[in-house]
Amino acid sequence: MSWLDGPDDDDEEPDYEFRVRPNPKANRPRTKRRPAHDDARIARVLGVDRGRYTVLVAEDAPEEHRGLATRARELRKTAIVTGDRVRVVGDTTGDEGTLSRIVGIEERTSLLRRSADDTDNVERVIVANADQMLVVVAAADPEPRARLVDRYLIAALDAGIRPMLVVTKTDLADPTEFLDHFEGLDLEVFTSARLEMPLERIGFALVGHSTVFVGHSGVGKSTLVNALVPSALRATGHVNVVTGRGRHTSSSTVSYRYEGPAGAGWVIDTPGVRSFGLGHINPDNILAAFTDLATVAEKCPRGCTHLPDAPDCAIMEAVEAGELGERGAARLDSLQRLLLTFETRDTRT
Ligand code: GDP
Ligand code: ZN
Repeated sequence: MSWLDGPDDDDEEPDYEFRVRPNPKANRPRTKRRPAHDDARIARVLGVDRGRYTVLVAEDAPEEHRGLATRARELRKTAIVTGDRVRVVGDTTGDEGTLSRIVGIEERTSLLRRSADDTDNVERVIVANADQMLVVVAAADPEPRARLVDRYLIAALDAGIRPMLVVTKTDLADPTEFLDHFEGLDLEVFTSARLEMPLERIGFALVGHSTVFVGHSGVGKSTLVNALVPSALRATGHVNVVTGRGRHTSSSTVSYRYEGPAGAGWVIDTPGVRSFGLGHINPDNILAAFTDLATVAEKCPRGCTHLPDAPDCAIMEAVEAGELGERGAARLDSLQRLLLTFETRDTRT
């Protein structure tokens, strides 16, 4: 199976993602539940492995500590994922052999999801409460694909998550032409070479945020995570999926605390997410992410697709009249490319 075929579940853990029903009403489903547990403490879910959650109890408090937790019976049908803030009861000391119990999930600020594929409505929750996404692509080996990056961007914008892009392996190829694709986006772009990783700049962008790292395997994502968070010890190198992958090092979604000269943040590494199916995406959310164009689009005819063949599209008219300048024209191009990716989503690329 080609990596461009979209998500491939074969090498993924069966239980770190949960199948949930799409919520027709809201993009960010409310999952807050508060059973009567007055003694509950707030914890952050750092990782999930076979029904066990690694939690950080009392995050940011001086006495914070890690522990293991299971979830209460009443939550067994609820997805609890990396990044969730949960309420835990029982033995929350984190002492060897102790297990606390998750009894509730705090309201999420964002939810990164993906459909199993574009036409499949069953979706999976990947990460909760991330506010940034760092898309990792290589300048070469593997060859970068703008369409794949577009899919990541769409998933981020739909979830209200700010996307950023890092192009690795610029020692192997010049990424300039590839980067031209993203001219019209408000995208912070980093370039990284083997002996010249922009750790300070990326680190600066991580401070105060929860940033989910995504990218196809082989692009250098683990190398980057390890450089930013030396204690992460992500397995690097092209390892045979069947024989070589360390279960705990590289096969599940895990949060790491980034601590740099400018402050701290969270790095959430997501192996196995090759691409995002776009089945659940609402195109209105993509337009909404282009705030400047969204304002102009208020004058569009009802149901306007804003695509090149749309009659009387206010954005296109404004661009043609030169009202939005060259920048606006580039933004429109980018918006249309993303909308088109969405329109043709069931045509595998
Ligand atoms: P991941 O699968 O995305 O986590 O990728 P890895 O971090 O395991 O890297 C895959 C391969 O690319 C490894 O052999 C790395 O040493 C190599 N690699 C990572 N970053 C760079 C880079 O900037 N330049 C070059 N030439 N190779 C790199
Ligand atoms: Zn329009």
